[in-house]
Amino acid sequence: MDWAQKIDLGLRERQGADAYRQRRAITDGNHRLLEYQGRRYLNFSSNDYLGLARDPRIVAAWQQGAARHGVGSGGSGHVTGHSACHQALEQRLADWLGYERALLFTSGYAANQGAIAALAGAGDQILADKLSHASLLEAAAHSPAQLRRFHHNDAASLARLAQTACAGGRLAVTEGVFSMDGDAAPLPSLHQAIRDAGGWLLVDDAHGFGAIGEQGRGSAWQQGCHPELLVVTFGKAVGVGGAAVLCARPVAEYLLQFARHLIYSTALPPAQVCAINASLDAIVAGDELRARLRRNIARFRHGAAELGYPLGQSGTAIQPLLVGDNALALRLGERLREQGCWLTAIRPPTVPPGGARLRITLTAAHHEADIDALLEALDHAHGYA
Ligand code: PMP
Repeated sequence: MDWAQKIDLGLRERQGADAYRQRRAITDGNHRLLEYQGRRYLNFSSNDYLGLARDPRIVAAWQQGAARHGVGSGGSGHVTGHSACHQALEQRLADWLGYERALLFTSGYAANQGAIAALAGAGDQILADKLSHASLLEAAAHSPAQLRRFHHNDAASLARLAQTACAGGRLAVTEGVFSMDGDAAPLPSLHQAIRDAGGWLLVDDAHGFGAIGEQGRGSAWQQGCHPELLVVTFGKAVGVGGAAVLCARPVAEYLLQFARHLIYSTALPPAQVCAINASLDAIVAGDELRARLRRNIARFRHGAAELGYPLGQSGTAIQPLLVGDNALALRLGERLREQGCWLTAIRPPTVPPGGARLRITLTAAHHEADIDALLEALDHAHGYA
């Protein structure tokens, strides 16, 4: 099969399964409202959980950072891309979250890939929650380590896998809040299970950091768990982009030697680092924002349950409506969009087969009336017609 045939086959496979992915060019808004093809929609698809992506203080910090430092870092952190701003943010994160060190990466994807690829060698074992994000599973699958998956959020399943023979190190991998289901991992029991087997835990808290826990410190802090590796990302509640890995000093030094995503990639622009720093100020002082988010979540769940919609086990900003069938999910999404609510239908392979859903995300920026408008639209769309 040549490349053209392979591409044609791949595209036709996706179309046949109602799984074809398309981007839409949004003309304005990553916030409460968005505009597409001249029409405004209430946005229930954003990971900007606290509504900080358009916060004037954070925008100003980015602008001032750009005026002072320019718009790019000019190189990898190992060359000249690591500035005093980067160093200060790393130190702040480490002190705030109780780690010896933090290392900045350009994205959560790069952080997960870089850390796992650097650590996982031949003879090692990666034990991953089976619903872990693609960036975690893919890094593990591409590494020479053995990848095994434990049942979702099941510490006993992890403990069983951790009893199998392993010549090297064991690393358990999970998310703080699962990106497609919104449920939280039982971090202390997972940590205990892997520690009993002499291994370490990596928690990717992309969806918990900033949005939950005292001062927004995230899932691990909230549950009193201190994983050996904690990944936090800045493209969701922080509203900016980028990520950090928190760990002990020798681990950070090791990653600086071996994490290729750090060594061979341009460092975050310093202006972006200034914006992340300003956003952390808002997050630390943001208990009221998090309380507003919790009120919005409760209002939505109460209303959707009254309408009889199949909700997941989520108490977080991510609220899946579990539809099952791909075509149905697409149709329901379309109906809701017609009524001015922007939602994303998520289909396999992003979720397991038969797990198509509408992924609703709520933010602190939504007004009560927005939640009510979504519930009204869901009421009209009942029966997924
Ligand atoms: N981990 C999880 C759990 C995620 O949901 C995402 C983003 N979808 C990432 C990592 C990747 O983060 P980033 O967008 O910063 O690359």
